[in-house]
Amino acid sequence: MEKSYREELVGVFGCPIDENPTVVVAKAAFEDLGIPYRYLTVLVKPEDLETAMKSLTALNMKGIHLTIPHKVEVLKYLDEIAEDAKIMGAVNTVYVKDGKLYGENTDGKGFITSLKEEQIEMQGKKVMLLGAGGAARAIAVELANTGVQKILVANRKGSGRGEALVQLLNENTSAEAEYMVWDHTLEIPEDVDILVNTTNIGLYPDVDQKPAIDYATVRPEMVVCDVIPNHPHTMFLKEAEKIGAKTIDGLGMLINQGAISFKFWTGYDCNRKVMKKALAKEYGVE
Ligand code: NDP
Repeated sequence: MEKSYREELVGVFGCPIDENPTVVVAKAAFEDLGIPYRYLTVLVKPEDLETAMKSLTALNMKGIHLTIPHKVEVLKYLDEIAEDAKIMGAVNTVYVKDGKLYGENTDGKGFITSLKEEQIEMQGKKVMLLGAGGAARAIAVELANTGVQKILVANRKGSGRGEALVQLLNENTSAEAEYMVWDHTLEIPEDVDILVNTTNIGLYPDVDQKPAIDYATVRPEMVVCDVIPNHPHTMFLKEAEKIGAKTIDGLGMLINQGAISFKFWTGYDCNRKVMKKALAKEYGVE
C-alpha cells in the first residue's frame, strides 16, 4: 500500500478551551494503538457553533467532544441523539457516520464505569449528589439506568437546577428522586450508600475548598466520589478518607468517558492504563 500522510481528525470544541487536557489522553491512546488519529483542541465561540458543527462533515472528521458552553446548544445541529442524552438534554460526544451526526453523552457512563472498576454495587442503592449541573445530570440519569433506587439531589435554591433535575429523574427514570435545599452545612442522611460531589468546589486553583457538609455525618460504610479531575485528591476525598470511607476520584471518570468516546470514533478499545498514566503525569500526581 502506498504511504498515506492523511490523519483522521477528532477533537473538542469549547470556549474557553485552552486548559482542557483531553488531547494528552487522546494522544497517548492513539499512539498506543498505532492509529493515525489527531485530536484537535479548538476554540469555538457560541455564535460559531453551527458553522463548526457543519465543518465536521466538510472536513471528513470522525467526531468531536463538546464542552462548556456547547453541550446543550449542540443538540439542535444533530441528526440523531441517544435516548439517555435526550433525557439529560446534553451531548458531550458526536460521531459522524455516513454523513450524519450522532449525539451521545459519555460523562455519566464514564462515572459508572469507574464505580464498576472498584466493584461498587449500585443496584437498589441510595445515592446523594452534591450539585445539579451538567455533570450531575449525566451521572444521575446513568445511575438511574443502572438500577439505583433513590437519588437525593442537594443544590442551592437560586438556580432552580436541583428542582429541575429531580423532576427530570422522576418523570423519565425508575429511580425515586428528592430535592434537598443546600443553604446550610448539610448533614448526610445515615442511609446514604454513595455520596458524590458533582460541584466544581475544589477544582484547581481552588484546591483548598471543600463542599459545605458536616463531615462527621459521613460514615465509613459510604462510598464517597468526586468528579474533580484536577487535582484529583481533593479536600472532600481527604475528609472522607479520614473517616475510613472508600473513595473514588474524578480521574477515572475522565479517562473512562474519553475511552467510550474514542471507541465511537475509532472502533477500538483504548488502553485505559496508558491514558491514566499520561494524565497523571500531566497533572503531576504520578
Ligand atoms: P455546572 O456549572 O453545570 O454545575 C456546577 C454545580 O455546582 C451547580 O449545581 C452549582 O450550583 C454547584 N455549585 C458551584 N459552586 C457551588 C458552591 N460554592 N456551593 C454549592 N454548590 C455549588 O458544572 P458541570 O456540572 O459541568 O461541572 C462540575 C464539575 O464536574 C467541574 O469541576 C468539572 O470539572 C467536573 N467534571 C468532571 C468530569 C470528569 O470526567 N471527571 C466530566 C464533567 C465535569 P448552582 O446550580 O446553584 O449554581
